[in-house]
Amino acid sequence: MKNFKNIDEIFELQNEFFNSQVTKNIDFRIKQLDTLKTAIEEYEIRIIEAINMDFDKCEFEAYETEVGIILSEIKHVRNKIKKWASPQKVKTPLTNPGAKTYIYKQPYGVCLIMSPWNYPFYLCISPLIGAIIGGNCAIIKPSELSLNTSKVIKEMIEKYFDKKYIAVIEGEIEENKYLLSKNFDYIFFTGSPAVGKIVMESASRNLTPCTLELGGKSPCIVDKNCDLDLSAKKIVWGKILNGGQTCIAPDYIIAHKDIKNHLIESIKKYIVSFYGEDPMKSKDYASVINERHFNRILNLINHEKVVYGGKNDKNTLKIEPTILDNINLDDDVMKDEIFGPLIPVLEFQTIEDIVKIVDANKNPLALYLFTKDKIFEEDILNRISFGGGCVNDTIMHISNHNAPFGGIGNSGIGSYHGKRSFDAFTHEKTVLKASLIDIPFKYPPYTKKGLDL
Ligand code: NAD
Repeated sequence: MKNFKNIDEIFELQNEFFNSQVTKNIDFRIKQLDTLKTAIEEYEIRIIEAINMDFDKCEFEAYETEVGIILSEIKHVRNKIKKWASPQKVKTPLTNPGAKTYIYKQPYGVCLIMSPWNYPFYLCISPLIGAIIGGNCAIIKPSELSLNTSKVIKEMIEKYFDKKYIAVIEGEIEENKYLLSKNFDYIFFTGSPAVGKIVMESASRNLTPCTLELGGKSPCIVDKNCDLDLSAKKIVWGKILNGGQTCIAPDYIIAHKDIKNHLIESIKKYIVSFYGEDPMKSKDYASVINERHFNRILNLINHEKVVYGGKNDKNTLKIEPTILDNINLDDDVMKDEIFGPLIPVLEFQTIEDIVKIVDANKNPLALYLFTKDKIFEEDILNRISFGGGCVNDTIMHISNHNAPFGGIGNSGIGSYHGKRSFDAFTHEKTVLKASLIDIPFKYPPYTKKGLDL
């Protein structure tokens, strides 16, 4: 049995520090955000190198999807903290004459942030921004599968922050389990639905509020009335980004029967155009994180249905972008989130066909729709439940700091980004400030006042 004394010590220190009230001060929060920005700028090259070592991700993609997006989020929230953190006055009904009502934004306290490996920097630091602007302390537990990035995050945080305020705990699942046994004030978890259930069960023991950012099978619907070439281009980019290991990657395609073959040809064209004739040799093509996931993905390939790709290289943990045609709900590739570079293609003729396919993996994290038909677009958007998504694009909804990002049901509970990160890491405390004018008729005995019904 491991010794978790360091976790106990940090947990106690953070509770003490939170109780000192220092983290609630708005200027303190702004200063910490500035410190975080300075830290990231100093460590930028090391972070990108570490991500590259973890899964051979190219420099530009690592900057674009992990570092650049964080710096832009810090800039977005920095000047808004004062407004967000101030008590907000709301209307008060006449039943309370002279009273005023305010919503106070109360930090939760000591927060746990648990992250997956697929965007190992972004998914630790983006929730941390929420914890800081909300006025909390935080313990971050990065994934044990992205060790190089985890090491750099720990070094960076320890150089710039006191562990009584922000700390990083590295380690295995045992550390996660021990952390989950502590009575945190709030838990922010990003990962799989299976582990999300474990986290929620642990949180329920102390009735700890939690946000769960999970995964799922995100459909990509391609209508016959669309810009087919542009659709294929955007699908290939969104799917193959990070080697297909993106929570909001289009998981599978549902194409209209009339254009399916044409779409497949266009997808092949863009794979070659982006990654060359041998994508596994492309510097822009990320590898699979480890052998376990490599074998898991390979097991999903039914070679009789491969119309493009299918090869792999165990030494580099790369699997070719692989298109699988004539797929139906009984295929293995349709049973669970793929999280790899496989592109299964199913077909539809009516909206009922689409609903039936999506319902087999209900409440996906994302949904993508390629169409020029506004009626079809509204029908899909109103009818199908999903976390968020795009019309005529993939992935990009995540880049808008003004809108919430999160799942529903199996793909998550709660949301964050920008103002929603502030909301996620604070409790809204309603306070009615009464006037000294009293209303006599509200007090018993009611019968004497003729108020009995
Ligand atoms: P995971 O659920 O296996 O691991 C996530 C975290 O949980 C890691 O820190 C890991 O150490 C910890 N963990 C694993 N098993 C645990 C256990 N038994 N008890 C306690 N903690 C445990 O997920 P992953 O493989 O790292 O990441 C992939 C999943 O994350 C996919 O489902 C993907 O869709 C999802 N994801 C979601 C988002 C989002 O924003 N919604 C973002 C990225 C990834």
